[in-house]
Amino acid sequence: MVRIMRMVFIGPPGAGKGTQAERLVKTYKMAHLSTGDMLRAARDAKTEVGVKADTFMSAGQLVPDDIIIEIIAERLGSPDCRDGYLLDGFPRTIAQAEALDRMLAEKGTPLDAVLELQVPEEELFRRLAGRGRADDTPEVIRQRLVAYRKQTEPLLDYYRQKKSLKSIDGLGTVDEIFARAKAALN
Ligand code: AMP
Repeated sequence: MVRIMRMVFIGPPGAGKGTQAERLVKTYKMAHLSTGDMLRAARDAKTEVGVKADTFMSAGQLVPDDIIIEIIAERLGSPDCRDGYLLDGFPRTIAQAEALDRMLAEKGTPLDAVLELQVPEEELFRRLAGRGRADDTPEVIRQRLVAYRKQTEPLLDYYRQKKSLKSIDGLGTVDEIFARAKAALN
């Protein structure tokens, strides 16, 4: 029996969050909610939201909070979220975290954990430069790291104050990091 788990997964771009997220959702039977994946799907489908989001994404900037919050509010109402979920790449700003808290308070379903994957900035730049995604030009990579530092890092204190933050070292093999994640969550 695996208990229901609702969690937020935070980490800078290039930290290896996607790989660990995939393993975590399998192990804990959570729905995988990646706002990056949702936005890329909307962009590829050329929906109104997707076209608007693309102007921010291709510059390495965060998509405006109101767009993201609406997407997540709708997604959290889906049946597959009833048995737990992992939020991957959301929230990324204090405003998004506060909106999430309000939504979950209304539903009476608080978060069980906030997990942070820690990787030093030099290592991130090295990894991102080697990843070769179309939007990974050095300038866009730099912008994404700046956005993380300025807009997302303040969330760590936000969740630390709520005593829900667990941080793990993101350097090592996939197996080593996954073992740390499980230990932190159990
Ligand atoms: P990711 O795949 O999580 O790195 O997301 C790719 C891009 O989508 C980011 O660089 C942002 O432009 C946008 N994005 C994803 N999630 C969010 C979010 N929660 N808030 C704002 N922008 C986001």
